[in-house]
Amino acid sequence: MLPVIALVGRPNVGKSTLFNRLTKSRDALVADMPGVTRDRKYGEGKTGDRAYIVIDTGGITGDEQGIDFEMARQSLQAIEEADAVFFIVDGRSGLIPADEMIADHLRRSGKTAYLVVNKTDGTDPDVAMSDFHTLGLGEPIPIAAAHNRGVRSLIDTSLADF
Ligand code: GDP
Ligand code: MG
Repeated sequence: MLPVIALVGRPNVGKSTLFNRLTKSRDALVADMPGVTRDRKYGEGKTGDRAYIVIDTGGITGDEQGIDFEMARQSLQAIEEADAVFFIVDGRSGLIPADEMIADHLRRSGKTAYLVVNKTDGTDPDVAMSDFHTLGLGEPIPIAAAHNRGVRSLIDTSLADF
């Protein structure tokens, strides 16, 4: 059985961009429109000689109705299916209440979670990261998925924990 990693976070933080980096596929739909991936999407990736499965999700907004409710349901199912979760937050917008709601859920799920701060390109990393310590999910890991920065280190670190 390959390790399964779920990408979870609110819409537009860069989950699908990271999915494409991790799976080297163009399969996940990446768009400027928030919440464009409505369903869970599975891809396989490899680092060195280690393979893994990644699940992309639509996102959790924290105020779930209609299509948002469905996205949140998919995200919660992805967490259940995963061995580990990459909780993606946006280093540019900083911490918002939806992030705290997701963090609460992750803590209760008992899953191994990595707090991943995306979009750290062009920002002061210390400023981008400082907010997120308060989530209580460990040391935030900076990446810039769009520029493939920090992605290899993230996946290698998480797989080493299995
Ligand atoms: P998702 O809704 O969480 O799947 O987010 P997407 O992957 O669709 O990305 C949302 C937007 O953020 C897109 O316009 C991406 O190009 C942009 N984005 C993703 N990663 C980065 C990054 O590392 N830096 C910057 N500046 N933008 C990014
Ligand atoms: Mg997406």
